[in-house]
Amino acid sequence: MKSVFYRSTRGGVQNVKASKAILTGIAEDGGLFVPNCIPKINLNLEELLNMDYKELAYFVMSKYFTDFTESELKNCIDKAYNDKFDTEGIAAIKKVGDAFVLELYHGPTLAFKDMALSILPHLLVTAAKKQNISKDIVILTATSGDTGKAALEGFTDIEGIKIIVFFPQEGVSAVQKMQMVTHKGNNTYVVGIKGNFDDAQSGVKEIFGDKAFVKFLDQNNYMFSSANSINIGRLVPQIVYYFYAYLKLYKDGEIKKGEKINITVPTGNFGNILAAYYAKEMGLPINKLICASNDNKVLYDFFNTGIYDKQREFVTTISPSMDILISSNLERLLYLLSGQDSNKVKELMNKLNTEGRYEVDKDMKEAAKNFYGNFADQQQTKEAIKKVYDDYSYLMDTHTAVAYSVYDRYKQKSEDLTKTVIASTASPYKFAYSVMNSLDDKYSNYSDFRLCMEMSKILSENEPTAIKDIENRDVLHKTICDKGEIKKQVKKILINLKS
Ligand SMILES: *Cc1c(COP(=O)(O)O)cnc(C)c1O
Repeated sequence: MKSVFYRSTRGGVQNVKASKAILTGIAEDGGLFVPNCIPKINLNLEELLNMDYKELAYFVMSKYFTDFTESELKNCIDKAYNDKFDTEGIAAIKKVGDAFVLELYHGPTLAFKDMALSILPHLLVTAAKKQNISKDIVILTATSGDTGKAALEGFTDIEGIKIIVFFPQEGVSAVQKMQMVTHKGNNTYVVGIKGNFDDAQSGVKEIFGDKAFVKFLDQNNYMFSSANSINIGRLVPQIVYYFYAYLKLYKDGEIKKGEKINITVPTGNFGNILAAYYAKEMGLPINKLICASNDNKVLYDFFNTGIYDKQREFVTTISPSMDILISSNLERLLYLLSGQDSNKVKELMNKLNTEGRYEVDKDMKEAAKNFYGNFADQQQTKEAIKKVYDDYSYLMDTHTAVAYSVYDRYKQKSEDLTKTVIASTASPYKFAYSVMNSLDDKYSNYSDFRLCMEMSKILSENEPTAIKDIENRDVLHKTICDKGEIKKQVKKILINLKS
């Protein structure tokens, strides 16, 4: 098989192996690792048709992680996709009206982040061995709510790894917060910050670029890596489920051989939808990529005007995992749209840093025409939850509802009849308060936890064990810091560990 090497989107790092790229997380020049070229496949549906999720995962990932041996990669896949997931298929597809909802939340933390974060720790440990690293790896993670818990779950008690999670103290749902602050594990640290997700992400990215700090770590026998979707080891596993969805539709007779589908993704950091774009570039028959935003609609503006402008009010919404104004993974798309021109990417990213905005040229805008961007405000999101529940007895979480709302309007406006897969990124239980109050405002005085119970009643099912009785668990992580103190906190945690 052809070897794939990785380089930075900003051109400063070239020709590194997958294991090195996964281990490093972010390139030294501040760019993100991308493959030299996206591997193309010959889509042989009959060959892929009978693969289960793990076999399909191997099919896709082996095209990217070419320095992993077959047994190394299969071992990682086996450890990741097992009975931690509550459905044998790992992902599930439900027909809801004329759309196909791809449920990606059947993992241990009830959000789609599990799809990649259950394998990333194993990829990292394997990569460290391959690179002869004997240092302890410190995973620094910023979370808008779901990455944090999924990363904690994935990395807990893995030897040689410490994980520190920063989350916006006021910006996550009650269930999300409890999932993180009650998390057990000898190598896990969770810190709330007085700020939003962008503050957390910028703080973490800054540490990665701080040479003095990296040296301090080195002297203490540590190295950093990232569990955020800036890590290529998170992006690639996310490509798998788009293949899975396509094959399932074909198997069920919903689409003909080679028929194109649209994919709608509720988007924040642009990782999930970028994985769908990679799948398309690999050769999966995909027509439109429908990028759905909430009130923080930077991406909607970008796809419509070619201008990315982060200088705007940050809105805290009922879909908190999408409350993001700096969508990191867009940098990887810019790289592709510019024809892999790292100088151009560097220039745009500099502008974003210094001026808070940039504008792409006509060619790049034209190259982005496979994307359609729109957004749903909070009222529209709630209406979508209620309408879909009333019409189809299907209960969506607030993020999936953003996608559904955008899909619904796209369908009406465009008259595009292409069959559409909607990525469902979280279980409704994680956002019980907003979901139940979308159905009926009689729930406004109930707590989130009480509403999880009510939800299980109306759905005639048990509450997921992951969150059952979560309000009664011991809070183990109580540290809260100012958004400017992220570095100080990391230092404190690591020094305490040594003493
Ligand atoms: C992270 C997350 C998103 C956004 O995904 P990106 O890859 O960051 O665009 C959407 N919904 C939920 C529930 C999430 O946890």
